[in-house]
Amino acid sequence: MNNNKSLSILVIDDDDIILKLVATALIKEGYHNLKTTSHGRHALALIDSAPEDIDLLLCDLNMPEIDGIEILRHLGIEKFSGAIILFSGENKQVLEIAETIAKNYKLNLLGSVQKPLEIKKLHDLIYKLTITPNATPTNKPKIRIDIKQLKLALENDEIVPFYQARVSTNTREIMGVESLARWQHPDYGILSPFRFITLAEQNDLIDLVTAAMVRHTIAQLQQWHQQDLKIHASINFSGKLFPRLDLPEHIESLLVDAGLPQDCLIIEITENQLLANFPTALEIVSRMSLKHFRISIDDFGTGHFSTQQLEQLPFNELKIDQQFVVNASKSRSSMAILEASISLAKRLNMMTVAEGVETQAQWDLVSRLGCDMVQGYLISKPLPADEFTTWAKDYQASL
Ligand code: C2E
Ligand code: CA
Ligand code: CA
Repeated sequence: MNNNKSLSILVIDDDDIILKLVATALIKEGYHNLKTTSHGRHALALIDSAPEDIDLLLCDLNMPEIDGIEILRHLGIEKFSGAIILFSGENKQVLEIAETIAKNYKLNLLGSVQKPLEIKKLHDLIYKLTITPNATPTNKPKIRIDIKQLKLALENDEIVPFYQARVSTNTREIMGVESLARWQHPDYGILSPFRFITLAEQNDLIDLVTAAMVRHTIAQLQQWHQQDLKIHASINFSGKLFPRLDLPEHIESLLVDAGLPQDCLIIEITENQLLANFPTALEIVSRMSLKHFRISIDDFGTGHFSTQQLEQLPFNELKIDQQFVVNASKSRSSMAILEASISLAKRLNMMTVAEGVETQAQWDLVSRLGCDMVQGYLISKPLPADEFTTWAKDYQASL
């Protein structure tokens, strides 16, 4: 039982008055281990750098830049184990969506408090947490990440890609890999990108992280192509890289030096990053496309891209976010988004990739709907380069 007042609490709300109100009320009740922030991005950086340090997250749903739904999704993918309470001035429907997302991701949502905030309701929810046995995990390993360490890691080449296969639903053949960043930390072992990507984005280090990813991936592709494993690789690009207008030329010259064709690299950009930076995105994506790189919209369905915007940009591929794949069998709206995304992509001549496919039933569903490729644990988890090479040879031989 954890009925002490040492819970570590993070409060996120874009309204400073609410932040103050909540902080004062919590301090009055004896909760002193408290952090507040009015910026979604800052909140994500705090959470990502040490998720096990947060026992309870109080989060507003409606915020500019990154809203509460986006934060929940992020926490879900990251498998955040702390408790969550939502604040909302929105109608019941929005709150229900948030609750469904939290449930689907198996997040520990204690409940929600309508705005204007009733402090008593908040206390009741927190009380629920403090009287639940084992509600707050103890003895969690403490991982401390800071910007100095990340700089050093980049210097020591500790940021490396793991590779996850994408296979054709038709032939089951490996078409390519997604290159996913990992930090091989000397003390903590392999760290997930959630620990350091937001930190890098906020401290002007994301171009160095991406440069390391591009460099390793191109060298690896060169090896695979020499071994007759002629696959492509997808790399994740942050919207923070858009001002780097020389990027297309830079990557082009690396590929030329490696003797690789331009179309063996796919640039993945999330729907939300594209939307947040639309005019610059238009420019950089068009120039990438002129250089014959393939461009993919990642996490499709989580933002609000219009068909018109989709038609405006020369995308080659659409990656359907894993939540729609996972929920399609139990949620009509997820199924509708899945179906609509695949048919929209077909109409615009784009390839489709279903992310997060873990079961044969999910494979059968996306394949029946006409999705071109599948990526997910059903086929393989992301693997270090040498393990991927061995796995890929066995897999191809088994077809
Ligand atoms: P993402 O681009 O959406 O990558 C897919 C994530 O889903 C990966 O998580 C992958 O391991 C995971 N995944 C794949 N198949 C399954 C499955 O069947 N079930 C489940 N539950 N998960 C699956 P990962 O590697 O932890 O990466 C998380 C996110 O970090 C990525 O999401 C991407 O947004 C970001 N990221 C990774 N590498 C980079 C990078 O080099 N640059 C940038 N800017 N972001 C990166
Ligand atoms: Ca991706
Ligand atoms: Ca994705």
